[in-house]
Amino acid sequence: MLGARMVIDNATLLIGIAFSSASLLLALTIGWLNARNESYLLLGATGMALIVCAVVIMGTNRAAYDVLQHGVSYSLILVGFSFIFAGTRRFRNARATLWPAALIGVIAVTITFIPLALGLTGLSTALLNAFAGALLVLCAVEHWRSDDHPRVALHANALIYTVTAFSFFSCAAVIAADGAWALAAPPKNWAEDFNAIMSIIGLTGIGALTLTLHYARAAQRHRDEANTDVLTGVLNRRALFDRFGNTVPATNTAVLMFDLDHFKQVNDRLGHAEGDRVLQRFAEVLQRELRRGDVPSRIGGEEFCAVLLAIDKEAARTIAERIRQSVADMDTRIGSTDLIATVSVGLAISAGDEDFSSLLNRADAALYQAKNGGRNQVRLAALRLVA
Ligand code: GH3
Ligand code: MG
Ligand code: MG
Repeated sequence: MLGARMVIDNATLLIGIAFSSASLLLALTIGWLNARNESYLLLGATGMALIVCAVVIMGTNRAAYDVLQHGVSYSLILVGFSFIFAGTRRFRNARATLWPAALIGVIAVTITFIPLALGLTGLSTALLNAFAGALLVLCAVEHWRSDDHPRVALHANALIYTVTAFSFFSCAAVIAADGAWALAAPPKNWAEDFNAIMSIIGLTGIGALTLTLHYARAAQRHRDEANTDVLTGVLNRRALFDRFGNTVPATNTAVLMFDLDHFKQVNDRLGHAEGDRVLQRFAEVLQRELRRGDVPSRIGGEEFCAVLLAIDKEAARTIAERIRQSVADMDTRIGSTDLIATVSVGLAISAGDEDFSSLLNRADAALYQAKNGGRNQVRLAALRLVA
């Protein structure tokens, strides 16, 4: 409890809130200007801008309630928090709809304004704080449920949202406990002080952490792009070798090598674009037939690889057969021609005594045998010759 004499007076605190919001607003806007598709940054920045306006309007008159002045600033605060909530929804899911936040905003503004107009200023202020707190809790929940990284920044953000929400709730609680439903002037008490301080900490902390999350996500996206094959969406050759290149795969690691049969003819007869479609559909078959945790990749033009961890020979062969069969079934549906493009597969299983490139070479040799044996088949690699 800070008592009757506060360390910092209210006007100074309000200016502090306005400045911290304004700098946050600037940082978020610059972030958005560099990444226009990240709409949560714009939603957050807009929310901040509205809150800054509200704080400035309220700061000009702390002596008495004024229906117009407080009606406008309360509405700006609630709409501002609704924007921030919409931003946290979009942060978690880029396609999240805006209407839940809009609906809550409209309801909160209406329910808060009516008692203000009726002279129940204390009730209106309590409702403002309750709705603001509730919106902040919703923001915290969105961040808490997000499966993005880094987790620590998300959880810290959720924590700040929660504590700031609690400071709003305490303002409402003090008014309710006093039964002060009709106040002559805005309340001054420990909860208001706590709330003002938390607003500064909250806005600055949330802003810094949101930008941290934004840049961490951008960096992750660049890493993903560098590791992904653009056409098919599976890992590219570089990513495969980054992950397994210097390893000695554990016993019961299977490597499947795939090469589409007569693919040059697919291109020649159906066109390069349709050839690309076949490659995409092959990657879809791979992703569908492989188990969760298996690693498909495209290592060259129409050559793919899959690394299957912790699997025995028969299970690996069954999966390889299923993939081969799916491709044979799929290709009968290409265009109106009688062309059947199939896939040949080489399979090698590690005994834990050879490095990745040796395992890959054995799978490749088996693939070569599958080609020579007439294509559209799975061949198991010969055992490794121990020198
Ligand atoms: P085989 O059964 O012996 O494997 O015959 P093939 O015709 O598949 O063998 P080859 O390696 O001679 O031909 C591979 C073809 O794959 C040649 C090339 O035009 C095509 N190709 C490579 N990359 C792409 C790509 O990104 N898109 C398309 N559409 N075709 C590609
Ligand atoms: Mg080839
Ligand atoms: Mg081929």
